[in-house]
Amino acid sequence: MFPGVSAITTRRIPVVVTLLALLALTACTVGPSHPAHARQITAAQPTPSAPAPTPSASPSPTAKPAFKSLAWYVSQVPTFPEAPQPQPVALPTTGSAAFWHRLPTDQKVAFITIDDGGLARPPGVIDFIWEARIPVTMFLNSPAAAEHTDYFRQIEAVGGVVENHTITHNSLAGRSYDYQKQEICGAADRLEELFGKRPTLFRPPFGEHDSTTLKAAHDCGAKAVFHWTETVHEGKVRYQTPEKVVQPGDVLLMHFRPALMDDLLAALKAIHRAGLTPALLEQYVR
Ligand SMILES: [Zn+2]
Repeated sequence: MFPGVSAITTRRIPVVVTLLALLALTACTVGPSHPAHARQITAAQPTPSAPAPTPSASPSPTAKPAFKSLAWYVSQVPTFPEAPQPQPVALPTTGSAAFWHRLPTDQKVAFITIDDGGLARPPGVIDFIWEARIPVTMFLNSPAAAEHTDYFRQIEAVGGVVENHTITHNSLAGRSYDYQKQEICGAADRLEELFGKRPTLFRPPFGEHDSTTLKAAHDCGAKAVFHWTETVHEGKVRYQTPEKVVQPGDVLLMHFRPALMDDLLAALKAIHRAGLTPALLEQYVR
């Protein structure tokens, strides 16, 4: 669905392995091979005139997915314009990380970010992200990441990227450099241990930060620090900018909460209404 997101494409092989392993465990409730899986994705848009996939692999044309089933969520995802070739943005060379509410780009993309990780981790999210090819960046608190590593690894396997959101989720603004560095570097160290890759992006808890935060984030390996332009909660998008429509480069914030499936769908619809395509933040901040 997002052909420009090569990071997802290149991760297909481990995903297939994961899915096959899951299928083996769950007694094959869906097609056992990757091609069959891909056809399910192609068939997700319920357009009557769309070319039919291989009949043997498709459900009855009259069958409608149950409300809020995985198939229903996938069927509600709009069809996006192809993602543009990402043009990475310039980064400061001042010894401090960049700070952005909205990524400075004119490209017709917006970014989905999911924060925290300790409160709820709806299991359907993994398959939804995979089947609808949703690019997501996860700003995780390191203790939640450590306690629920398998869950976040599965989202990584379907293209999600783990980034840094401190250890304790305390506000950093006004705190000493040492305190902030401990929160940011401590979480980065742990996330690197857990996922094998050091985070390159940072989001301060509550968005609260100061110039010390940007210096400490830089010193802990972050290239950019992100606020957001929209929040999404229980399926509702709340615009925090005057335009009241998603703009190129916008960053949508949601959380690992029980309604995350609804939040992802609402974000996708809002991005689509704006004529944009979801893209992966890490392809623009390198
Ligand atoms: Zn948070």
